[in-house]
Amino acid sequence: MRPEIYDAIIIGGGAAGLFCAIKAGKRGRRVLVIEHNAEVGRKIIISGGGRCNFTNANTSPENFVSKNPHFCKSALAGYTPQNFTELVRKHKINYYEKKLGQLFCRESSRQIVDLLLTECHRAKVEIRTTCSVKRVEKNTAFEIETSSGSLHSEKLVIACGGLSFPKIGASDLGYRIARQFDIKIEETRPSLVAMQMKNNDGLTALSGLSIDAMVSAERAAFHENILFTHRGLSGPAILQISNYWERGQPVTIDLLPGEDAEAILMENRQRRAGLVNLFSQYLPQRFVDAFALRNFPDKTLDQISNKDLEKIADHLNNWKVEFRGTEGYDRAEVTLGGVSTSELSSKTMESKKVSGLFFIGEVVDVTGWLGGYNFQWAWSSGYAAGKAI
Ligand SMILES: Cc1cc2nc3c(=O)[nH]c(=O)nc-3n(C[C@H](O)[C@H](O)[C@H](O)COP(=O)(O)OP(=O)(O)OC[C@H]3O[C@@H](n4cnc5c(N)ncnc54)[C@H](O)[C@@H]3O)c2cc1C
Repeated sequence: MRPEIYDAIIIGGGAAGLFCAIKAGKRGRRVLVIEHNAEVGRKIIISGGGRCNFTNANTSPENFVSKNPHFCKSALAGYTPQNFTELVRKHKINYYEKKLGQLFCRESSRQIVDLLLTECHRAKVEIRTTCSVKRVEKNTAFEIETSSGSLHSEKLVIACGGLSFPKIGASDLGYRIARQFDIKIEETRPSLVAMQMKNNDGLTALSGLSIDAMVSAERAAFHENILFTHRGLSGPAILQISNYWERGQPVTIDLLPGEDAEAILMENRQRRAGLVNLFSQYLPQRFVDAFALRNFPDKTLDQISNKDLEKIADHLNNWKVEFRGTEGYDRAEVTLGGVSTSELSSKTMESKKVSGLFFIGEVVDVTGWLGGYNFQWAWSSGYAAGKAI
């Protein structure tokens, strides 16, 4: 049987792949999207707790982690959060700002998938679901062997995402294709994910408790909630710092952001205040009980030495937490690392080595913070490639 011929084939019917297809289709290119799931956009559907945090109005390159922090600039400037929000408005999707520029659908994330499918239809994009890729080769054009036959195309876009959430279709195909063409991959690991503590003795009782905190690693700091879990910590501040955590390096947690614990202790020492009573004014009772019990049970401040008071203060403002790992790809919102940006044009996402081969979205070594940035990267990188294929 003769192969079917397209101008461009996009592997992966997620946020980046569909958006790229729309742009290319509108330019009159004959585009096919291949998706191995029975439906496209499954990650979009489950995102943002079912309401899809589809962008962040305050997106800037500083909100992304990559070996090359400048790489994302051109694509983000070429298609902005305001551009996507206009499209959302055009489709009459109600949205709201939850906090810090995070824009969510008011009703359902499915509306974003419907938006993409409507635009694909208008752009005459062909979508083939339940289709798996068996082999990719490049001769004069790309030859793609799939479960539904042989395909040829001049351009090939890899948009099959990262490794997180395998239960809804994540696969390593993007990285395998990169390796096949000798394209470098920055080490990958689960990110925007809960972390497991090395030693959480005495803290498991706190599971479910949330505290406002400043969490920092060497290159970043986030002031949001942390959440105690059975195995360690979660909550927005921990997910954010997971993008920056380096194995073997502790993360610093200030449990009293804006307060000087040592000054509070010293001021209250004369009053013979108890540790528990004192810190109950600042922190949840459950935490204070567990913390005091773990450190200095039943003592009033005047019975604790200066050195020990300093230690307590340090523990509250400067708690060093060692993590043994993360909760893994099953729970991670994204994959950190991926196809090296040194291999790609920042204007078009095309491989510098293999002409006609493009990588977009999460498969690339550009990872956003929590808060709508990852979808913005999918739209922006998809748009950049869609203009070029
Ligand atoms: C639970 C959860 C909630 C999230 N919430 C948000 C949020 O609210 N805001 C935000 O900005 N980001 C969020 N993210 C991150 C965001 O979903 C991703 O960064 C984004 O979807 C990446 O887009 P992508 O198109 O690169 O990859 P994906 O959206 O993952 O799309 C890749 C597509 O390729 C398909 N595919 C994979 N392998 C193959 C193969 N071998 N053959 C054919 N097709 C294949 C997949 O089935 C999938 O449809 C969330 C992630 C998770 C897991």
